[in-house]
Amino acid sequence: MPATIATNLQTIHRRINLACEKANRNPGEVRLLLATKTVDSERIKMALEQGENLVGENKVQELKEKCNAIKVLNPEVHFIGHLQSNKIKEVIKWATCVQSIDRLTLAEKLHKRLLFEEKTMEVFIQVNTSYEESKFGVAPEEALALIQQVAALDSLRIKGLMTIGLFSASHEKVRKCFQLLKKIQQEAIALQLPNVEMKELSMGMSGDLEIAIEEGATIIRVGTAIFGERIYPDTYYWNERKTIDE
Ligand SMILES: *Cc1c(COP(=O)(O)O)cnc(C)c1O
Repeated sequence: MPATIATNLQTIHRRINLACEKANRNPGEVRLLLATKTVDSERIKMALEQGENLVGENKVQELKEKCNAIKVLNPEVHFIGHLQSNKIKEVIKWATCVQSIDRLTLAEKLHKRLLFEEKTMEVFIQVNTSYEESKFGVAPEEALALIQQVAALDSLRIKGLMTIGLFSASHEKVRKCFQLLKKIQQEAIALQLPNVEMKELSMGMSGDLEIAIEEGATIIRVGTAIFGERIYPDTYYWNERKTIDE
């Protein structure tokens, strides 16, 4: 098992390097985030021991359970799943960045809690570039308005945008999602908002990381290609509209 994770990581870094070469980019511009939903702490540690340093969790419960166990290896931990506002306190405890801000009510509650704790937090705005009902994220047409509103909440430091590309065998359709995220990034930069950096594009996963890198990804989020297939279907993590709390 340890050999497998190490080997898989080597393969991923080879893929990153090749994609960067093809896109004329420096591999140092692309960070690998370990998408660790359903993966236990021991296996996450194996990946961290190979030199990785960025972990993303989807569920607050898993975040809590694993962070204690892996903190000896000092990873940077981001939250990348759908966040219910009643879980905000826990997220602040364990993660330094929430990549999945997709609505103003959530941002406002997060801001309020951070003010109370006299803290700040990095955030990404998640955009639903594939327009799929099942995916979270603000609609692309509403993204700039949300960015402006979140920018006014000064405990939140907007670092960039996040998206999940369309699941499709058509590379061109997947590429359109990533191009759309890049376009929104450029439009947001042009607004020159205070408190907004917009350097990061978190896009690309096991199946489409090359396309994402070609389109400008600065963070790719990879699970399956490192840790193997998950037993839960991803709809368990992504299709939770019924549980939205506002
Ligand atoms: C699971 C997940 C990933 C990783 O997906 P893989 O296809 O397993 O690489 C990336 N981003 C998010 C938000 C996820 O939930």
